[in-house]
Amino acid sequence: MNWEEYEKKLSKFHVVEKDKEFLKKVLELAKKVHDGEKRLSGEDYITHPIAVSLKLAELKMDANTIAAGLLHDAVERSPETLKTIKKNFGDELSFLVDGVTKVDRVHSTGADRALESVKKMFLAVAEDIRVVIIKLMDRLHNMETIASLPQEKRERIARETLSLYASIADRLGMWNIKAQLEDLSMKYLYPKEYEYISGEIKKFAPEREKYLKKILQELEIELKRAEIKPIEINYREKHLYSAWRKLERYEGDWSRISDLIALRIIVPDIKSCYGGLGVVHKLWKPVPGKFKDYIALPKPNGYQSLHTSVFTEPRVIVEFQIRTLEMHREAESGIAAHWAYSEAGKPKKGFKSIGKKFNWISQLQKWQKELNPPAGGENASSEEFLEALKIDFFKDRIFVLTPKGDVVDLPKGSTPLDFAYHIHSEIGNHASGAKINGRMMSFSWELRSGNVVEIITQKNKKPSPEWLTLVRTAMAKNKIRQALRMYPKKSFLSSDSKLVEIRIYGKNRIGFIKDITSVFARRKINIQNLISARSGSEEVPIRVTCVPKDKRELDNIVSRLEKIEGVKKVTPAFK
Ligand code: MN
Repeated sequence: MNWEEYEKKLSKFHVVEKDKEFLKKVLELAKKVHDGEKRLSGEDYITHPIAVSLKLAELKMDANTIAAGLLHDAVERSPETLKTIKKNFGDELSFLVDGVTKVDRVHSTGADRALESVKKMFLAVAEDIRVVIIKLMDRLHNMETIASLPQEKRERIARETLSLYASIADRLGMWNIKAQLEDLSMKYLYPKEYEYISGEIKKFAPEREKYLKKILQELEIELKRAEIKPIEINYREKHLYSAWRKLERYEGDWSRISDLIALRIIVPDIKSCYGGLGVVHKLWKPVPGKFKDYIALPKPNGYQSLHTSVFTEPRVIVEFQIRTLEMHREAESGIAAHWAYSEAGKPKKGFKSIGKKFNWISQLQKWQKELNPPAGGENASSEEFLEALKIDFFKDRIFVLTPKGDVVDLPKGSTPLDFAYHIHSEIGNHASGAKINGRMMSFSWELRSGNVVEIITQKNKKPSPEWLTLVRTAMAKNKIRQALRMYPKKSFLSSDSKLVEIRIYGKNRIGFIKDITSVFARRKINIQNLISARSGSEEVPIRVTCVPKDKRELDNIVSRLEKIEGVKKVTPAFK
């Protein structure tokens, strides 16, 4: 696709001239990176990033996000591209592209037990909701063009799409995207069922359409009489996957699925929603028990609308959904609807009020609470809203992977030894080295979300007291202490042990201990043990056990301690 064709499509989605100039330059870079590269289907590779970017434009995302769609596979292809992006187009675009590249490493193996962790890791690694949306559009286009892949790969991708991507789209309230992902997955995972359901739905489609048109005419006349001006009336067919699921619940009885087709009335305001409902119920007799006021009582996922089912004829049931444009937009594209609003010319300060209305925020907050204690109140301020976009609600946790792809959830600041003890105490006790993303790293390395961690073990390896200063989790600390007690002390008298006991002689006055501990705290040295003289006698020293970095640091500590008021003598000794 050349620029002219691409530009024409962008215009269709109301991308403004200024952004087009920017996107033209980005497209040039993307074309350069993917030059000569082909997809399995034989098409030029660039057709894929272009398609992804157009999906983002259709969702009315901002220019940087559309641009990131163009470049989403560029860094994977040539890692140095990230620098070029940063230099030519700035931090925000390079941040988004980098985020997409990192998320590429997160996969679901399909094992249900880890799925929730995988989802959380996916979001934690993405760092920004827009990165998640780019990945969803990437996956959607891959699913649309999956036919040319070998069957085994196709099924693996479809399974992951169903378990991970569709479910994330659902969490973000992007029902439309979720429906597309589910139907495409179903097509490749359950082809027979797919054929059957779509066949049944298609069989009666023309008849149904004719009938609905007739109903629509009657409805329009009555709405006009009641002075309700609908913005749009349309109908949607239930998507195949959810029709299949429902059919299974009803043991294959099609007649029990009353919402196979729903007529949608989009009106300007809430008053017209209830007015429209009155018109529908005046025209046709409602089915008892089928009326749902999701405006007054939104669904737990935030969905708002009025639902009712009526007998348009004896034994013919039609479902109606009545909602405002805003409710409709959020129902269709969830989180992405936010950008559509700001595009519509609303000022940035409109952010705040929109933020309050967007129910996915409370969704995300609820999700967050599963892991972290609640931060802030129910009424999200605009800052909190922006925070939510930044996906930093997992900021106290990290999600790392085993070489097999299992997700391990650890507190922030954890090191390879925390990971090792989390897997198994034997792996911890015999750890001799750690590989992070395939590279050897020291045990003091702070793990980050998305890291693949592999622990190298050796039979004769044993924990060293120094490890106590390297781990973050209480579990690892306890297990190391246990192991240290288990092995004869002698084995730690090796020359590389740096555990030092410092004896401080002096008068134990008020604030004395605090003065001593602050010498260590200032140098960020963990005190592993402190035994203070009970009697306050100058003969019995205060004993501090620690692991200084080197001789110089130890000398430094000693001279500092000697300067403390009341200290008579300081003697260090290796244990
Ligand atoms: Mn891609």
